[in-house]
Amino acid sequence: MNKGLLIVISGFSGAGKSVITKKLLREYEHYAYSVSATTRNPRAGEVDGKDYFFITKEEFERKIENGELLEHNNYVGNYYGTLKSYVEDKLAEGKDVILEIDVNGGRQVKASYPDTISIFVTAPNASEQSQRLRGRGTESEDVIRARLTKVIDEIPTALTYDYIVVNDDLEKTTERINRIIQDQHLRSCNQKAFLEEFEKDIKTILDK
Ligand code: ADP
Ligand code: 5GP
Repeated sequence: MNKGLLIVISGFSGAGKSVITKKLLREYEHYAYSVSATTRNPRAGEVDGKDYFFITKEEFERKIENGELLEHNNYVGNYYGTLKSYVEDKLAEGKDVILEIDVNGGRQVKASYPDTISIFVTAPNASEQSQRLRGRGTESEDVIRARLTKVIDEIPTALTYDYIVVNDDLEKTTERINRIIQDQHLRSCNQKAFLEEFEKDIKTILDK
């Protein structure tokens, strides 16, 4: 069995990463979601262990010291990080593991795992971007402004991503992203285990 692929999905705050990721997980069986750890407070409806592991700053810093994180970052005042063991277990099971993380985390992951597929999501234009963030109604005005300001800082890194996908229509965007990921399975570098198995079976046939 070929190993699963590591996928980073980043994007401007409010671009739709979270709804796209949820849709991918609901509609296709081959994905696993990497549940991150964070020190931010849960939003209404968010579940500990499902959306994030909500932990204290002290617990987070202990995880950094113990080398338990594949990457981590401080985003607008809170820590966020990816749990290494969870991701490695899911890849070994053949799942394509989605990391919905910010551009700093994305950069760290790509440096450690160069085969990572990185996808950057944006709204179709700036006013829609701002409207989606406000429309979600989960952040204070100060946090919204901080997140919109961050868009400007994120643009240079967005340009280093493998793909930039404009999330106009949610249905179409989700399908497009699924297709991008599944096409990567056809690359020869991702077919090694398949061809090794093939070779073994041919030898068995020849030995009969
Ligand atoms: P992110 O995870 O990137 O911060 P969310 O997934 O929380 O963003 O989406 C932000 C808001 O935009 C949500 O209210 C979501 O329902 C809405 N949204 C996402 N994609 C679309 C789309 N294609 N068209 C209209 N609204 C969208
Ligand atoms: P939010 O507070 O909106 O859930 O997330 C804020 C930002 O942190 C988003 O850009 C999100 O993708 C990012 N994020 C979520 N989990 C992680 C993580 O594990 N690592 C990093 N580097 N960023 C993360």
